[in-house]
Amino acid sequence: MSKPRIAFLGLGIMGSGMARRLLIHGFPLAVFNRHVEKSGPFAAEGARVAASPREAVAQADVIISMVADDVAARSLWLGENGALASARPETVCVECSTTTVNWARELSAAASARRCECLDAPVTGSKAQAAAGELVFLVGGNSATLQKAQPVLSAMSKAIVYLGPAGSGALMKLINNFVCGVQVASLAEALAMIERSGLDRARALEVLTAGAPGSPILKTVAGRMTAPDFTPNFPLRHIAKDLGYAIQEGGKLSVGLLTAAAALEEFQKAIVEGHGQKDIAAVVEPFRNR
Ligand code: NAP
Repeated sequence: MSKPRIAFLGLGIMGSGMARRLLIHGFPLAVFNRHVEKSGPFAAEGARVAASPREAVAQADVIISMVADDVAARSLWLGENGALASARPETVCVECSTTTVNWARELSAAASARRCECLDAPVTGSKAQAAAGELVFLVGGNSATLQKAQPVLSAMSKAIVYLGPAGSGALMKLINNFVCGVQVASLAEALAMIERSGLDRARALEVLTAGAPGSPILKTVAGRMTAPDFTPNFPLRHIAKDLGYAIQEGGKLSVGLLTAAAALEEFQKAIVEGHGQKDIAAVVEPFRNR
């Protein structure tokens, strides 16, 4: 049986790794990125480079979007020359960007109106996991649609978690990321206390990372904060976006995300000081510059 044809929209840190996995697995691939220079290498690797989302998806069986936020996703799917303008009926539309639940539901409705199917399928894992095909998909939508998309998602992941109707994957991702964001912000505060107090930094971080607070994200980010190495794996501005979206969703459920709000303040400070494009670990920098 021939492999489904895929259109991949968004070749940033995550999208470029994911699209490469699809090429490695032999899926016919068309790609689109707003700034075309990121598409060039994909032409050399066998993908068709499209000038617009509309052009990218014209022959696609599955469309995948992996872009910054709601605004970016909306422009790719619904904008002038957007993907839904030329998607064929029964095409499976997969939104992998971390977005609001509202956007996931709106896209699902817009896809249905064009007789397409839709999944919200944001991911956990970062740059390295995207490149290695070891992401985890958090999926909302119709389970029959997920069955259709499964071979494609499997090429990019080590696990696929089905969470329920449209918007469920988006919601789970925001819950996951606000808990991550809070931990990273608290680590920045902890490190600031350690550095200013004169405690032995290596020994103090060993206590934290080997002990109860030593979650996978704390262990990874502690190394980057101390190196310091702020090469973006997870750009800091994206966690600020995720915390903002999570706070909105919490509000709808009458859960005030007070820890997320405090963490967001720390990330906003870092953005104001020019660290938004750097890795999430750069949230420690404003403490060092004070
Ligand atoms: P990134 O490297 O900053 O890439 C962002 C992508 O979005 C680029 O392709 C960019 O196009 C595109 N974009 C931004 N604004 C746009 C607009 N207005 N119109 C069209 N395209 C636009 O981000 P990333 O790290 O790959 O993250 C992508 C998504 O995955 C985000 O939702 C993020 O929250 C989520 N995520 C990231 C990680 C991580 O560790 N990095 C992990 C899990 C989930 P240009 O190249 O033209 O700017």
